[in-house]
Amino acid sequence: SRKYLVVGGVAGGASAAARLRRHSEEDQVVIFEKGPHVSFSNCSLPYYLSGLVENSEELVMMNPEKFKKQYNIDVRTENEVLSIDRKSKSVTVKDLKTGKNYTETYDKLILSPGGKPIVPPIPGIENANCYTIRNVVDIVKLGDALKGAPKKVSVIGGGFIGIETVENLKEAGHSVTLVEAMPQILRILDEDMVQILHKEIYDHGVNLIVGDKVSAFDKSNVILESGRRVESDVVVLAIGVQPETDLAKGANLDLGKTGAMKVDQNFKTNDPDIYAVGDVIEVYSYLFNDYFKLPLAGPAQKQARGVADHINGMQIDNRGYIGSSILKVFDYNAASTGLTAGFIEHAKLGIDYDCVRIIPGDKVGLMPSSRALHFKLIYEIPTGRILGAQAIGKGNVDKRIDVIATVIKFNGTIHDLKDLELCYAPPFGTAKDVVNFAGYVAANILKGDFKHIHVNKVRSLQESGATIIDVREESEYEESHIIGAKNIPLSQLRDRIDEIPKNNPVYLHCRSGQRSYNAVLALQNLGFDNLFNVSGGFMGISFYE
Ligand code: FAD
Repeated sequence: SRKYLVVGGVAGGASAAARLRRHSEEDQVVIFEKGPHVSFSNCSLPYYLSGLVENSEELVMMNPEKFKKQYNIDVRTENEVLSIDRKSKSVTVKDLKTGKNYTETYDKLILSPGGKPIVPPIPGIENANCYTIRNVVDIVKLGDALKGAPKKVSVIGGGFIGIETVENLKEAGHSVTLVEAMPQILRILDEDMVQILHKEIYDHGVNLIVGDKVSAFDKSNVILESGRRVESDVVVLAIGVQPETDLAKGANLDLGKTGAMKVDQNFKTNDPDIYAVGDVIEVYSYLFNDYFKLPLAGPAQKQARGVADHINGMQIDNRGYIGSSILKVFDYNAASTGLTAGFIEHAKLGIDYDCVRIIPGDKVGLMPSSRALHFKLIYEIPTGRILGAQAIGKGNVDKRIDVIATVIKFNGTIHDLKDLELCYAPPFGTAKDVVNFAGYVAANILKGDFKHIHVNKVRSLQESGATIIDVREESEYEESHIIGAKNIPLSQLRDRIDEIPKNNPVYLHCRSGQRSYNAVLALQNLGFDNLFNVSGGFMGISFYE
């Protein structure tokens, strides 16, 4: 029999160990976990703060006794692996309960030590009542600090963990500030899309501050670079995670250019007997052909399963990663897959691309729960290859983004979207689903059937005095409109074409972009040719402004 050691007992570690056991009853499998728990739901931790998860024990799915009984796996909690001796194929472990060190040999070693919260040396941080969230112990500590009367809490960092924490703190009745150094939260979304969530967070009474960085703490009060001061009793630092690479560095295992561990196609390190998975490694993007960090639970668990298979003689068909994620932000759901337009620009990928922005209903409008779904599709020019998509709405965004993620994984194009046969009945969607619809629009633009511009260009059009025509009905226009836009409702368009200039460019918009698209086509058929539809329409513009 062989002996396998696993470092880390949560997403990657526990999955690898369980899969190793499924391959063989003979082999010895040992998990070392420095914390007191294995197999807990990291992703559910923030929900303890609102009481949605009432008892912290519910966060722990398995314990060492169950692992022993159900899988015959030896789980050693509060046992920290200190170092790896590659020559003798052994690890030195500290039993944190007794303080004693011991060694254990291996045939194969799997590292899944995860990522640790980044804590920068901000002046005054040592005297702030500051917490990070990584495990059950952390969340219980934070929960204890928040007991009693509602507190003023500053959450630093507008990534997933920060935002989920904000929502749950607010639900629990605390007074919450969210500080994000960048001009926007959640970089999985483009700036035009994310404004919807900025508004949602703001509307729920959170003091949202973007584009301002923490420069110091005065006790737990936050001092920002702008000079602004946020009074708080408790600080939650959620500015990101960094891979736990100390073990790897100590054993001269290769790190990649991102600073995370470098592994091959089969998640093997530069030592043939050591594998690494999860937040500690960098992965390959087949959308931009380079390495990046993808600290998510799904990839960690699947990599772990693959490693156990590879150790048992199977090849892993690892085609690289695209990155798909989702979160709930108060009443909205937001999901994203692949590349954002912002990333393509910022990373100077040099990809020629365009985006489609549509806002259809997520279900047939007669259904009481039908809601607008903000959808953005990003595709390569001229191939039509899909690069990414984002969806924000109060209903099912995951179905749409999962479909796109699947199409991307199969190297699909916008033309494939048109033909997808997706299930439909009024309570679930529309006969032409959002993703079909996005495929039609993208294909029409790519073919040159009509031209469009994005909502972030509207302000400069306004400033340059361009002709903007609002084709919504008069009552909609009267309620609110873009200053300088002329109202010619679609229903009156054919009678009022004399009012539309023929030689200068004309920009048409409606509420979502659909009526104005029809107006553009009608005018084109009547001989106009310098027309642009505003992709995303008035809803997109008003969120953007
Ligand atoms: P982990 O699951 O972190 O496990 C690593 C374990 O290794 C740790 O418990 C650590 O104590 C232990 N360890 C480290 N070094 C040693 C050592 N030397 N000796 C012994 N033990 C060691 N992902 C999603 O996809 N969706 C979500 O909704 C989501 N929400 C999240 C919410 C929160 C609050 C957090 C913290 C994470 C969330 N994630 C989410 C990310 C996801 O949890 C991680 O990507 C995933 O757990 C990574 O798995 P891993 O095995 O690499 O590391």
